[in-house]
Amino acid sequence: MKKVKPLYEGKAKILWETEDPAYMVQEFKNDATAFDGTKHEVIEGKGRLNNLISSHLFGLLNAEGIRTHFAERISDNEMVVERLDMLLVEVVVRNIAAGSLVRRLGIPEGTRFNPPIVEFYLKNDDLHDPIMTEDHIYAMDLATPQQIAVMRREALAINVILRNFLRDRGIDLVDFKLEFGRKDGELVLGDEISPDTCRYHDAKTGEIMDKDRFRQDLGGFLDAYTEVLSRVSG
Ligand code: C5P
Repeated sequence: MKKVKPLYEGKAKILWETEDPAYMVQEFKNDATAFDGTKHEVIEGKGRLNNLISSHLFGLLNAEGIRTHFAERISDNEMVVERLDMLLVEVVVRNIAAGSLVRRLGIPEGTRFNPPIVEFYLKNDDLHDPIMTEDHIYAMDLATPQQIAVMRREALAINVILRNFLRDRGIDLVDFKLEFGRKDGELVLGDEISPDTCRYHDAKTGEIMDKDRFRQDLGGFLDAYTEVLSRVSG
């Protein structure tokens, strides 16, 4: 599928229009950003790793019957995806306490949740992606109550699939973020599923294998992403 023109450039990806209006090319950039883009670095090889990891995980979800936008990987840095009308809502699932949850509620880091926690955030950089309740989403007309219920259900189903798959490969799925879009009256999973949008900890050692290495200046960023790729594709 040929790229025609860029439709949207984000912090980590570019979406390209193709000759087929139903499909886009999603190109993964080497840019790493954190803290609303205030921390920024170009890390050679990052785009490829996120594209490969995302392709594997979307392929897994597709095979398990989850409706995702992923069609195929076409190069090291690019995948073909269905064009969706994205909801301005980010869905976060948490199995283990980390990150903003620990800061906001004072829950000790590492606390395991059963059942997992589902949260919704407004996708708005100017407002720093604030957390929101289902009533806020409904009041702002960002999704219908039925769509909110579908997102929650899908997010929990995706969590079970990813958590088991990663567990078998020695990785604890701490938390992750999803974005959904509409297509022909259906909700479809979009965006990416990579160590940029998930927290992965080594199940044995607890070692951080995700973007927290960049956020916290821990070093070993590419090695950690390479290790995730090797376990996910192995
Ligand atoms: O920062 P916080 O702890 O709320 O993040 C929860 C999960 O969602 C993490 O895996 C993080 O990488 C992901 N996330 C994301 N994009 C955002 C906010 C969070 O991918 N804008």
